[in-house]
Amino acid sequence: MSKSAGPIQQAVDRVSEALAPEAELVVVGGWVRDHLLGRDAGDMDLATALMPEEVMRRAKAAGLKTVPTGLQHGTVTVISKGQGFEITTFRGDGDYRDGRHPECVHLGVSLQEDLARRDFTINAMALPVEFYKCGETLGRVIDPFGGESDIERRLIRAVGDPLKRFAEDGLRPLRACRFASQLGFNIEEKTLSAISQRLDVSAKVSVERVFVELTKLLCGLEPKGGLQLLADSGLLDLWTPELRPMIGCEQTRHHRFPVWEHTLEAVAFAPPEPALRWAALLHDVGKPATRTIDETGSVHFYGHEARSLEITLAIFLRLKVGHAFTREVLALVRHHGTHPLEEWSDAACRRFLRKLTEDGLPLEEWGRFRIADQLAKGFDEASNLLQHQRVMERMMRLAEAKPPLSPNALALDGKALIQLAEKQGGPWLGSLQKHLLDVVIEDPARNTPEELKRCAVDWLKDSRGQGRFQ
Ligand code: ATP
Ligand code: MG
Repeated sequence: MSKSAGPIQQAVDRVSEALAPEAELVVVGGWVRDHLLGRDAGDMDLATALMPEEVMRRAKAAGLKTVPTGLQHGTVTVISKGQGFEITTFRGDGDYRDGRHPECVHLGVSLQEDLARRDFTINAMALPVEFYKCGETLGRVIDPFGGESDIERRLIRAVGDPLKRFAEDGLRPLRACRFASQLGFNIEEKTLSAISQRLDVSAKVSVERVFVELTKLLCGLEPKGGLQLLADSGLLDLWTPELRPMIGCEQTRHHRFPVWEHTLEAVAFAPPEPALRWAALLHDVGKPATRTIDETGSVHFYGHEARSLEITLAIFLRLKVGHAFTREVLALVRHHGTHPLEEWSDAACRRFLRKLTEDGLPLEEWGRFRIADQLAKGFDEASNLLQHQRVMERMMRLAEAKPPLSPNALALDGKALIQLAEKQGGPWLGSLQKHLLDVVIEDPARNTPEELKRCAVDWLKDSRGQGRFQ
């Protein structure tokens, strides 16, 4: 090993020394693919001919910590120089009966057989650790299914017969589309046509795994291609049938593209972060259901934001998406249609900032989403950017002055208001705070205890008069 070897190399080196001899230790799967592609390779998965108990025994004897991560699948994690490596014994999969998992796994097979159970040729390559250690990876990759040449041709191809492979595990078709998006690859013809023929198997995959894959697809390099593959193959309809009516839904003169094409553009323009990309996918999903044409022939989508919110929530409930993430995407969808104009008063801008605050959406995030949506409309990019910059500068200037945007920023807190009213807390308190917030958003200079006391007394008098103050 060279002196300049990086920390990972040194850590792998330690593992390999600990497990020798006859361990046949190799790096497998995604790391090899990404390494050949020159991409930032993620987790390094290792595989070996040794049985898991032997891996544990040898690693421990060499002073390395081990964790029996998944012994029944042949996986042990070995910690070397602070780095965890999953080491899996070469294995073959037993029969698949449920379209999701093999009934059992057979340990102690050859590397060749281990590679044959993997999903795509580009994921079915191995690099012996001794070559990785020397940095001599060129020509050393074990590649029985032509993964390297598929990388060159930028193709996702199933290992073996795609119909059979997709009948075993319904997640693989979705992974194919996800890799197509992440790597900007095409799916080889037979592999592609097998996807539509195995939709019944894909329908059995757990929604949690589907959400993970869809999110990776959305955050990929070529999400437009990935989404189009979902639509063309029919995978889209398994989990998000509400998206289908967007295809072919024509729009107004404010847009150059129909709804689906605009959506694809918005996803691609949005920064590759899960919430922004999901919001881009779903922000206009309510349009087809709200589309109307008036007597002049103009197309309208009145109330489409509300419909988009309903559909987004339905999809996220179906996919069992977490609460915080759902809330973030809903907030982006809810506010995507607001276009602050130059003629808006400062108070109107602050009212908008208050709505963002109520929904927990940072102004900066709203801005990043808005510009993606604007650019996706397909009109003059430069003027769009300039206009957006002006909106953001003004909003940021107003936000920097830290105006009160929520009840807890009022100069009088709830306790003080209760004392003033000489009444127990209740719904009236929320109404009063909302009123005071309206007042100070109009004019932040009025956010002083004296001024708010005066306003509150007036409001209380008024409320009692109107019998609202119960
Ligand atoms: P990522 O960059 O998302 O980690 P990956 O290819 O490494 O991509 P993993 O889920 O980490 O994906 O899986 C590691 C390897 O295990 C894959 O490269 C592939 O060889 C194999 N594999 C993963 N999932 C499947 C599957 N559903 N069917 C067959 N082989 C699979
Ligand atoms: Mg991986």
